[in-house]
Amino acid sequence: ARSREVIQLYVGQAGVQIASACWELYCLEHGIHADGTMCQDNDMDNDSNAFFSCCYCHSTKHFKCVPRVILVDLEPIPIDEIRTGCYRQLFDPATLITGKEDAASNFGRGYNTLGCELIDATLDRIRRVSENCDCLQGFITTRSIGGGTGSGLGTLIQEKITDEYGKTCRHEFNIFPSPKISPIIVEPYNALLATHFSMDYSDCCILLDNEAIYDVCGCSLDVPNPTYTNLNRVISQVISSCTASMRFSGAINVDMQEFQTNLVPYPRIHFPLCTYAPLIPATKGSLADLSTQQITQSCFHPHTQLVKCDPRKGKYISCCMLYRGDAEPTEINFSIRDIKQKKAIRFVDWSPTSFKIGINYQPPTCVPGGDLCTVNRAVCMLSTNSAIRCAWQRVYNKYKRLSKRSAFSHHFECEGIEKNDMMEASENLLALIKDYEEVECD
Ligand code: GDP
Repeated sequence: ARSREVIQLYVGQAGVQIASACWELYCLEHGIHADGTMCQDNDMDNDSNAFFSCCYCHSTKHFKCVPRVILVDLEPIPIDEIRTGCYRQLFDPATLITGKEDAASNFGRGYNTLGCELIDATLDRIRRVSENCDCLQGFITTRSIGGGTGSGLGTLIQEKITDEYGKTCRHEFNIFPSPKISPIIVEPYNALLATHFSMDYSDCCILLDNEAIYDVCGCSLDVPNPTYTNLNRVISQVISSCTASMRFSGAINVDMQEFQTNLVPYPRIHFPLCTYAPLIPATKGSLADLSTQQITQSCFHPHTQLVKCDPRKGKYISCCMLYRGDAEPTEINFSIRDIKQKKAIRFVDWSPTSFKIGINYQPPTCVPGGDLCTVNRAVCMLSTNSAIRCAWQRVYNKYKRLSKRSAFSHHFECEGIEKNDMMEASENLLALIKDYEEVECD
């Protein structure tokens, strides 16, 4: 089958560190060694071409696979770790772009001052990678929105690719800040500005809340004080499930455009809630396999949500269930019928309780030393649920507390973010919260 290529952009420290975790997993899933050569038994019965470009290397007489990525960070350290780490030969060095000075957790530095110095090199590289695609399906950007580079430079990149690539799909995975994990005081400012300035340049943005993932590690995976490595392994498994249907020819596949069609009822309502099941610690071994019905049900529990919010307090508009491994369509249909009949789960009455299903028969792959147990089947659910507005409300409340005293805002003014920008951003966020309230009304 002819693949439709996807270019992945990873911006800032969180983005780059998540890239490491994701590509380690993608290599294992596609039978590709850390240096990009293919494993002996690789029959290439998959669409790895969507994410990797493959070429024959005459000197080594091997096929070499190269990720279709651009990694960019204003400071060198996170990318230097890749340049010197086990996967240093996997990436094309020209696609690893670094500056000299960090964004000091300031959106303005990433968006205006320092970001402007790296944007041309970044766009130039994106152009080269896209020239190597037959039929580009879209871009997926991964970044945190609490720091300065992911939020600021990430937003600038979204804007520029929209200018240049028009209607090509622009999807995102955004790491949502958590004060439990991060010491950055100005995260509410950065998250607010990134969300406001990116609103029109993103078609579908999946939020992954560090707080929720931290709790999943502690409560479900027996990792009480998780590090970024632990969080990122969970995140990579989730992202891998979301992208499996773009990388494998499955029984039922969902492409980027279909995600959007199913999950985005209005352009601004583009923040699906993500859940993953089963979340079983590696120590439990393979005894822990759960049935299709069990994993389907657990997607609707509040503790499996990867953004801190209770989906039972909001209403569902649509659900997209992405199964991997041993999941039969009849069992899936049965499980979903069962869910629909349960009164605890509320759907808006203006939308036809529709479930989009994706199935890929390859079971999830576990990274050696990871925290998740090896299982025969898993599911990742992306749903549009109005309860996600609680996450935005938390950011807004924290912003309000800081801004009442104009605390720390002069740092942003120095980098070209005026009081007025901040005001507009906060009004936009309030409007978004209202939009979610409105879709809930029957
Ligand atoms: P930037 O490089 O300026 O964009 O800054 P960061 O990416 O470090 O952004 C800071 C936010 O990202 C904080 O909320 C951190 O807790 C979070 N963060 C930083 N590194 C990681 C990581 O590797 N994984 C996860 N999940 N979050 C991270």
